[in-house]
Amino acid sequence: MPAHLLRRPSLVPAAHRLGVAAAAAWRAGGALSPPLARSSSSQRTCAPSTAGSTSAGSDTSTAETLRALARSRIAAAAPHPPLAPLEDRHARQHTYLRISLTERCNLRCTYCMPAEGLADLTPRAELLTPHELQRLATLFVRQGVDKIRLTGGEPTVRRDIVDVVARLASLRSEGLLQLGMTSNGMLLPRLLPSLAAAGLTHLNISLDTLDPHLFELITRRSGAGVARVLAAAEQSVKLGLTTKLNVVVVRGVNDSKDVLDFVEWARHRDIVVRFIEYMPFDGNKWRPEKLVPYRVLLERIVERFGPLEKVGDTANDTSKHWRVPGSRGTIGFITSMTDHFCGTCNRLRITADGNLKVCLFGNTEVSLRDAMRTGLPLELSGVAQTDGPASDEDLLHIVSAAVKRKHAKHAGMSAPEDLARSANRSMIRIGG
Ligand code: SF4
Repeated sequence: MPAHLLRRPSLVPAAHRLGVAAAAAWRAGGALSPPLARSSSSQRTCAPSTAGSTSAGSDTSTAETLRALARSRIAAAAPHPPLAPLEDRHARQHTYLRISLTERCNLRCTYCMPAEGLADLTPRAELLTPHELQRLATLFVRQGVDKIRLTGGEPTVRRDIVDVVARLASLRSEGLLQLGMTSNGMLLPRLLPSLAAAGLTHLNISLDTLDPHLFELITRRSGAGVARVLAAAEQSVKLGLTTKLNVVVVRGVNDSKDVLDFVEWARHRDIVVRFIEYMPFDGNKWRPEKLVPYRVLLERIVERFGPLEKVGDTANDTSKHWRVPGSRGTIGFITSMTDHFCGTCNRLRITADGNLKVCLFGNTEVSLRDAMRTGLPLELSGVAQTDGPASDEDLLHIVSAAVKRKHAKHAGMSAPEDLARSANRSMIRIGG
């Protein structure tokens, strides 16, 4: 047994598992108290004070007061049930893992990267291997993740993409419910049947316009790509995958005619079209005036199509959904900039080079790849000194410590300008 494990008797003790069960029972409405109900601050505000208690002849009330005080002291002395490994300080349980497979892409979208591409891409040997991806995914699924999405770059440019999907799809037996992918659709006509057969269940396709001319301007690739991508979307629906189209809306580029074209297109297909507010990332030249708030788009759509029907949003949903009456498809808005949904955030990210990123806008990362390959020193892991490659328990500790450091929203920033100024990876290196 490695020396570092001998130093620590058990990294996931029974008491911890008990704590997880207690927290789960409480969330399910069981009789146990919520962990935070025992916090010292609640005692400061709630515990009755005996100081200056001079109420004449009130023996009964004094006895009751003392009993209440004793009860609060006993509660304070009882150990707090520890949070589950993927639960943060804000009681958010993380059940959704986004894994980036590559930093490469076969398009050159103007809002994403320079025409010549990125110069300093991570060498292939430093990306996570299929085996490492499977190991990490298994660890997260066993801790309650039931939804995984593969992102990039463009995930389909990885030659082993079908193998990766098959490996992760095998985690259905461990509790995985959804295995999705976000793709620009260019290689999907060739790959979709194999991906569906390997176990892919959900597909988000990125497409910012239905106009071949504008597509060429945005992506710096042939406008013939539009027909290709739309064919892939239709094929995906036929194969039974839950299919969505993602449209990043940029003022002055695709915020009027294109948005209305997409709404019209969705009327006749079982597809969700989602309009995404333009977000700032390193190198994407974001400026406040390029952002189109979703309410503006909503008004534009109502003006053209009349009042919309509200569609129920699911828990942890990042989009707000509506339907044009009589349509087969629905439209959604991802409102990260003007109406953030951090309060229900259940997302964690692993970058293609193996870093765990607990918030899209946060630049604090920890390398799970290095932990798996060589081990991490204390100052990097935050919790454990590993003398060699990390065990699954070591990894779980590293992940848990990072999750506990997660901020309540937007990595602790509030103004869009702060997000734009903060150092972060480019979108293509994060994986969206
Ligand atoms: S900004 Fe961070 S906290 Fe908010 S929803 Fe995105 S990942 Fe979650």
